[in-house]
Amino acid sequence: MPHSIIVIGAGIGGLTAGALLACRGYDVTVYEQAGVPGGCASTFRRRGFNFDVGATQVAGLEPGGIHQRIFAELGIDIPPATPCDPACAVFLPRETDPIRVWRNSEKWQVERQKQFPGSEPFWQLMAKLFRASWNFQGREPVLPPRNIWDLWQLISALRLDTFATVPFALMTVGDALRLYGLANDQRLKTFLNLQLKLYSQVNADETALLYAATALAVSQAPQGLYHFHGSMQVLSDCLVKALEKHGGKLKLGYSIEQIHPQNNHVEQVTIRHHKTGETRTETADHVVANVTVQNLIKLLDVSPSFFWTLYQNRVEKLPRPSGAFVVYLGVYRQAIPDKYFPHLQFLYDDNKPISENNSLFISVSEPGDGRAPNGQATIIASSFTDPQIWFDKTPKAYRALKRRYTSEAIARLSSYFCLTPDTLIHQEAATPCTFARFTARAKGIVGGVGQRVSTFGPFGIATRTPLNNLWLVGDSTHPGEGTAGVSYSASTVVRQIEMSQ
Ligand SMILES: Cc1cc2nc3c(=O)[nH]c(=O)nc-3n(C[C@H](O)[C@H](O)[C@H](O)COP(=O)(O)OP(=O)(O)OC[C@H]3O[C@@H](n4cnc5c(N)ncnc54)[C@H](O)[C@@H]3O)c2cc1C
Repeated sequence: MPHSIIVIGAGIGGLTAGALLACRGYDVTVYEQAGVPGGCASTFRRRGFNFDVGATQVAGLEPGGIHQRIFAELGIDIPPATPCDPACAVFLPRETDPIRVWRNSEKWQVERQKQFPGSEPFWQLMAKLFRASWNFQGREPVLPPRNIWDLWQLISALRLDTFATVPFALMTVGDALRLYGLANDQRLKTFLNLQLKLYSQVNADETALLYAATALAVSQAPQGLYHFHGSMQVLSDCLVKALEKHGGKLKLGYSIEQIHPQNNHVEQVTIRHHKTGETRTETADHVVANVTVQNLIKLLDVSPSFFWTLYQNRVEKLPRPSGAFVVYLGVYRQAIPDKYFPHLQFLYDDNKPISENNSLFISVSEPGDGRAPNGQATIIASSFTDPQIWFDKTPKAYRALKRRYTSEAIARLSSYFCLTPDTLIHQEAATPCTFARFTARAKGIVGGVGQRVSTFGPFGIATRTPLNNLWLVGDSTHPGEGTAGVSYSASTVVRQIEMSQ
């Protein structure tokens, strides 16, 4: 009898783990509470437009990249995608000419030397740290290790060049800027704050330097960011195809309501079918949870051990995570300037925090990329927001806040796009409450745990939990690299489960 696996959630993390386990002969059932798979990387359709809910750009599609390796193992083709070049055009306050983060390394070097004179030694350090960290990550270490096998995987991934990163392991980007006398270069700092916030959720002074080295370099070839044709949904659709091809099952509209532990083991889980309201319990040899770590601790009805209580305490003390406010616009193509960039980032006021519409990350569909009918386009703009301000409100106060944020965002977008009643066809917005409802993420938090020194690498959240057959995949365990990162976490869990048999 093959070992049975229950996967909680069909986000990219859960689907990747489920498909790989099914491919390796396990009896896998993935339960997804929503009506579609994909979670934060899914898509919804309105009036002929395909809107990507969250993720719009994807890393790890290049030969040897994490998605590419996983698709090769699953025996399915990667859906067509185009590299983003520039990966992003960054507009700083009061500037009309953006900083273009080019895909070509030499072109990016020329651009940053022009934009940030005197900063090259800093970028060279980042490039050196990136090469060592990337090679290390490619050898698939288990981080943070939680037993002898994990530790052995970690040790086996070490090489001489990895040791060159050790002196920098406890440094932040802010420390490195100080090291190179760049702490007062406000323009460079603003650019780094903006870009890093997208990945690490925190600014340059807080982001772990080794993490930043990877986040700031993945946009360049031979790595790079890609835009799927059609929509982001193609990624989860392919993973579902692979899961089913290898005998796994996906059950949509089912929530795992509770995990029942006994000693250091999951005994059974309670599953509720949304349509009928019927609940039942099920057992499995392993349970893979594709949920936030904050959700995970809520899924257990009792604390089964001292170690679980420690785990719970740590999760409760994690710094407050971010939520997202996203505006989805369907427009006539005339709304887009003739010379435009598919991915843009704006900061409007450098005296205010980077959240709450003061900065927008924008993704614009390209003609013929399948997201909009001919002559039309989608514009998706997201901003970080404090989840607390959206909950515990009367319906009227919530609607008023959502309306205010939406008009504020559209007003800001209008400084670049021509958004008038004549060009705007469809508009809607998502708040942390929307994300909480559709992805079941506690308080609608997104993006995982901020990549500070205290929560990065060896100090991060592990894929192993204190229960020996309960595993965690997703952006709590491998945050900041989006769908590529959650795929690493899934691949780690699959190896850990295989080794535990
Ligand atoms: C606005 C925004 C923009 C982003 N942009 C990018 C980008 O450009 N590129 C990029 O790579 N990443 C981006 N990301 C991040 C990326 O979307 C996520 O890191 C990634 O999709 C998270 O995947 P996951 O599998 O960890 O979790 P999720 O996507 O949250 O999936 C978890 C799934 O589990 C289900 N679930 C939860 N609890 C239960 C339960 N109890 N029972 C059953 N099912 C359950 C949920 O419904 C969900 O489908 C963005 C995110 C946001 C919000």
